Amino acid sequence: MATPIALLSVYDKTGLIEFAKELSSSGVRLLGSGGTAKKIREAGIPIEDVSDITKAPEMLGGRVKTLHPAVHGGILARSIPSDEQDLKAQSISPISIVVCNLYPFTETISKPNATLADAVEEVDIGGVTLLRAAAKNHERVSVLSDPSDYPSFIQAWKSGNGDVGQNLRNTLALKAFEMTAKYDEAISGYFREQYASADLPKENLAGPVQRMALRYGANPHQKPAQAFVTEGELPFKALSGSPGYINLLDALNSYALVKELHAALGLPAAASFKHVSPAGAAVGVPLDEVEKKVYGVDDLKEELTPLACAYARARGADRMSSFGDFIAVSAPCDLATARIISREVSDGIIAPGYTPEALDVLKKKKGGKYCVLQIDPSYVPGEVETRQVYGISMQQRRNDAVIDANLFGNIVSTKKDVTKEALTDLIVATLALKYTQSNSVAYAYKGALIGIGAGQQSRIHCTRLAGGKADNWWLRHHPRVLALPFKKGVKRADKANAIDLFVTSEVLEGREKEQWESLFEAVPSPLTEEEKKTHASQLEGVACSSDAFFPFPDNVHRARKSGVTFLAAPSGSVMDAECIKAADEHGMVFAHTSLRLFHH
Ligand code: 5GP
Repeated sequence: MATPIALLSVYDKTGLIEFAKELSSSGVRLLGSGGTAKKIREAGIPIEDVSDITKAPEMLGGRVKTLHPAVHGGILARSIPSDEQDLKAQSISPISIVVCNLYPFTETISKPNATLADAVEEVDIGGVTLLRAAAKNHERVSVLSDPSDYPSFIQAWKSGNGDVGQNLRNTLALKAFEMTAKYDEAISGYFREQYASADLPKENLAGPVQRMALRYGANPHQKPAQAFVTEGELPFKALSGSPGYINLLDALNSYALVKELHAALGLPAAASFKHVSPAGAAVGVPLDEVEKKVYGVDDLKEELTPLACAYARARGADRMSSFGDFIAVSAPCDLATARIISREVSDGIIAPGYTPEALDVLKKKKGGKYCVLQIDPSYVPGEVETRQVYGISMQQRRNDAVIDANLFGNIVSTKKDVTKEALTDLIVATLALKYTQSNSVAYAYKGALIGIGAGQQSRIHCTRLAGGKADNWWLRHHPRVLALPFKKGVKRADKANAIDLFVTSEVLEGREKEQWESLFEAVPSPLTEEEKKTHASQLEGVACSSDAFFPFPDNVHRARKSGVTFLAAPSGSVMDAECIKAADEHGMVFAHTSLRLFHH
């Protein structure tokens, strides 16, 4: 048997001498690149220089050391006659072991004063080629890319009499592939920052924008933070302000929602997101005079466009939760919509475009810091999405389920009639759930969410939470709420908070009571239980959807209390029959969707 050859070329020389000693004493012929060979030789271990077999000196200050057919032919040759003949014709000996680790690219660029030239010099070429070639030919070649593998390799080499076995070669090859992939990711990440980052001056941009630095991650101490694509370009740009991590989570989820709502219903759509769930979402159904008052847009000078109607409804469903929202609209933002936004406390907006007047208004918000993002409406995300949690990468097919009228064809209740309006509301509620943190239950009416229960661990808590919000929303239509005698100059957000305290009949004491009362010309008397009950009984025809099946009929009973007539949920519960029975008792229409919509 020919003497096995090992090629050693390592930046990190940890454990190198011991390993070389063991290899050599096991009868392995050693070859090394400049520094590696020198170190081993100085330890008194016999080793030849790579240049002895390439007959070419290291050149270009070390840029070319091992890149040569004598090396790569020796590594890549298979144990097949034609390859063996090729080697023979060129007097090349096969190499059985490659020991290599790479220049410290990541460490170098992490240094505070690292220059582009420093980074370029740390891009290892020959080492990656060695690892890749050896890993490719792992049927025959062992590749060691991590010093911690040296001892176990020697043990296997000795016990296998020079054959470590295919399993070990497979494992080592995978490790080398992972190492080069990670290395290349670090390099492309660095150059993305240098050449393709949104914050670069235009003249320094080498091509499409692939990366946007984010102000910070989920919390201000989570720095640095960024958003990027590895192919093509970022489908959005900031026209004003700069987003944080959660802003972007909100922006991308909410835009997906409004785009799908618009496509499903053929109407402009808007969403008001907080903490990656919608506080409101709606399509552009016109507002009557009472609704204009409820949504606080009765005094708007501009006429309400369909998009403005959609945003007024989305923002007005739960005004308290929408405080400081991130907004998405499905159509170019117009002046009327921008005017509504301009008087609310909000963090940012994403839209497929802006009229010049609307952009002018939005750019002035928050002293010029309001985040205005423009997204390419033709953008379609990839089929597979990847995220990392606690260092573990997880992948799944993107939730590309289409939610439209077809989803609600399986009516399981005795009553079967779904009105066109109810179908719209079922679509709004169900699509909202697709982009709401689970568990979730949504109530919708007149093309708008009116209550959403998000992120609860039990379904009935979602149904109650959403129902409670819908009840408050409806009470805000009560004539006594609409006539609350606010003093002049009370801010919109303060009014929203005061109204919430009023409709929820919160018992106030001390200073809180004084403060609340000070907002009014005359202190209003609380709504009586009777007034509330009478008002509640006037709400009918609400749609309610659930992101997973109802485990108990209590959900159906609770939904009914908030005017729900149309229900949608997947089937699959052992209590399905009980839930249908409960829906029938209340004369509700119940559709089984067979589509679970968990979202995290
Ligand atoms: P040494 O200390 O032996 O001179 O260099 C070892 C380092 O050189 C290893 O990190 C290895 O990845 C890298 N290397 C091996 N061959 C080449 C080559 O042809 N060009 C470059 N730029 N680096 C190489």
